Amino acid sequence: MMKDMKEMKEMKEMKDKQDMEEMKEMKEMKEMKKKRKKMKKMKKMKEIVFDMKEIEMDMKEIEMEVKEMKEMNEIKRATQKQAGAVTWVYWDIKMCPVPDGFHPRLVRPSIKRLLEKNGYGGGPLNVIAYGKLADVPLETLREVFSSGIDLKLLPHGNLSGYIDLSYPANIMVISDPKACPYSTSGLQALGKNPIQPFPYHSLSTLLMKYSGVVGEETAESALWDCLVCARDPPGQSFATFISHLSDEEHHERLIRRFHRSCY
Ligand SMILES: [Zn+2]
Repeated sequence: MMKDMKEMKEMKEMKDKQDMEEMKEMKEMKEMKKKRKKMKKMKKMKEIVFDMKEIEMDMKEIEMEVKEMKEMNEIKRATQKQAGAVTWVYWDIKMCPVPDGFHPRLVRPSIKRLLEKNGYGGGPLNVIAYGKLADVPLETLREVFSSGIDLKLLPHGNLSGYIDLSYPANIMVISDPKACPYSTSGLQALGKNPIQPFPYHSLSTLLMKYSGVVGEETAESALWDCLVCARDPPGQSFATFISHLSDEEHHERLIRRFHRSCY
């Protein structure tokens, strides 16, 4: 009898222990499930936040495009006198780079088409890419140059003081408005016609609307000049431009200019 009791007790203990373990396992499983659910929720939240950010970015892009579209449609038509005048386009190629997905050779023909459409097609067109050209990919410069755009190396990438003010002309500046040293009224006082809006600040809409196919455009010969070294006459080949970029004297002059501007 005693033995039976003992056995029964032991069996009960065993059973209890088993139950306890099962309960523990169940609890762990439940917790795991909870955790997994939470993780899934977190992942979804992260995805939503990411989507929201994307939407926000898209909205900003659309806003910019609308602004640029408006800007492009706002270009003031040339008067009869302006239509026949020479047009100078100064393009800060560092501040307003060729947008992704467009060939650098398309910039000049696109500008030309935009100007012609607004009545500025009568006189000669000069397009100059200026800025810190050493920071622009060489391949881009090569393509730009070969499409007939002049290259101008400026001491600090700043246009200030370099627009030729000696005769009437239409002037278009493509640059960051904060970096453009010329004002509409300042240029008008000097007898120039700054093409409005001034400065024009981005190439994307212009290229989207006016760029044709690479190869269709007619290339014109271009010149390059270095206003750090005040060379004369301007260079005619891209090869000499490249060698000038690594020219020792050019670098020394650049450094001297930089030091002078620090005082
Ligand atoms: Zn130089």
